[in-house]
Amino acid sequence: MKNISIPELIKILKEYDIKRFCFVYNRQTEKVEPSHKELQFLADFINSDKCDFEEHEAMFFQLTDKYDVLQGAFVHRTKRGQAAGGVRFWQYENVEEFLRDGMRLAKGMTHKNALAGLWWGGGKGVMIHNTDFNKQDKGYREYVYTEYGKFLTRLKGCYVTAEDVGTSVEDMANIYKSTRFTTCIPESLGGSGNPSEPTSRGVLAGMEAALAFRGETLEGKTVAVQGMGHVAEPLIGHLFNKNVKKVIAADINPDIVNSVKEKFTDKNLEARLVEKGDNSILSEDCDIIAPCAVGATLNDKTIPSIKAGIICGAANNQLENPEKHDKMIFDRGIIYVPDFLTNRMGIVNCANEQYGYVDNDEFIERHLQKDWKHGVYQTTLSVLQESQKTEKPTSKVAVKQAAEMSMREHPIFGHRSLKIIQSLVKNKWYEN
Ligand code: NAD
Repeated sequence: MKNISIPELIKILKEYDIKRFCFVYNRQTEKVEPSHKELQFLADFINSDKCDFEEHEAMFFQLTDKYDVLQGAFVHRTKRGQAAGGVRFWQYENVEEFLRDGMRLAKGMTHKNALAGLWWGGGKGVMIHNTDFNKQDKGYREYVYTEYGKFLTRLKGCYVTAEDVGTSVEDMANIYKSTRFTTCIPESLGGSGNPSEPTSRGVLAGMEAALAFRGETLEGKTVAVQGMGHVAEPLIGHLFNKNVKKVIAADINPDIVNSVKEKFTDKNLEARLVEKGDNSILSEDCDIIAPCAVGATLNDKTIPSIKAGIICGAANNQLENPEKHDKMIFDRGIIYVPDFLTNRMGIVNCANEQYGYVDNDEFIERHLQKDWKHGVYQTTLSVLQESQKTEKPTSKVAVKQAAEMSMREHPIFGHRSLKIIQSLVKNKWYEN
């Protein structure tokens, strides 16, 4: 199984005339079962995986008729509600990498949603770009995303998608053409719009909580921000409003560096243009570093040179190896505010958009207020206190709290998505 490439898997699917398939967890055997016996080898891999597989309730797949794009919907845990999480359009070396990524990301969404107190379960969509085609081709994208919508319609709502890496607002509109099981639709169609500003305030709340934990405030601090994009730019503004002494920021895009520089000409902002892969901003002599660019920047190379006492940013999956690097940071006495805690506003902002909008919506704003038990600020404090008490790294503590919360059933619908999954299996959804 290990080295099966994506084209090899597609060949197998075609040989057996399999267009749609799934793996569903059986609580009695404690194993996933495949929809097709020919795919038992994939089920065996999932069952043997100790790293990313964790009783995922179901994983659904379809191969598109045109373009041979393999599309997946990974459903981790749905006790709190339908599995929610974005869909990414990505490239993978092999099947193992694809399945692992989907399982890991879906589990991450269970944690993010539960810790935010949302009545949503955790899931993730992953589609594999077929490199024979131009990823930016309009016709290709329109087809792929419209087919993804049809796929979700077939899954009857056990997974509700959203925007993610590689997916644009236009793509979301294409999904919305063929399913109602999506959030993050464009504003012009009644969606909630870009969540980056609320996300920046979530990061700010995490920073303030980490400082409060040490009896300090943002006033007079120096903050180094990696990335100057949609989240980082408003974050820099909020930091100046809190009277920080200085912000040092870096980006690889010269246009972005210049436009942010222009915006803050009267402030003490040092904006740098860096090469891709240049992580030197993370070893700045400062109080806080805020990774707001890409994932996996906290690793063997960067952690030993960090001088800041606090890490708190928006980027997803900042720890290259969560187990190892969480501990490395903890052992160095640096406070790490877990990314899935601070960047929750992305999903919070769109998750409940079907309920409509009100000004200063309390169901959104309370996540950013200091006194709400499940808000970013109080949750960060609770994680830091528990981490200190138990001498365990913060991510580990946050995951434990999130996992406990994810076991609570939806107050109205109970574990309804599990019933949806069972009915899909019973009705052989993959044959329709
Ligand atoms: P963005 O694409 O607008 O900004 C990212 C910026 O990082 C870009 O300007 C890019 O040029 C820059 N960059 C890339 N590699 C870099 C490097 N090595 N060094 C310095 N800069 C680099 O994205 P965003 O919406 O601001 O999101 C930032 C991060 O936060 C992403 O990891 C995203 O997944 C995560 N996130 C965002 C939201 C949201 O609401 N936008 C929500 C949750 C998580």
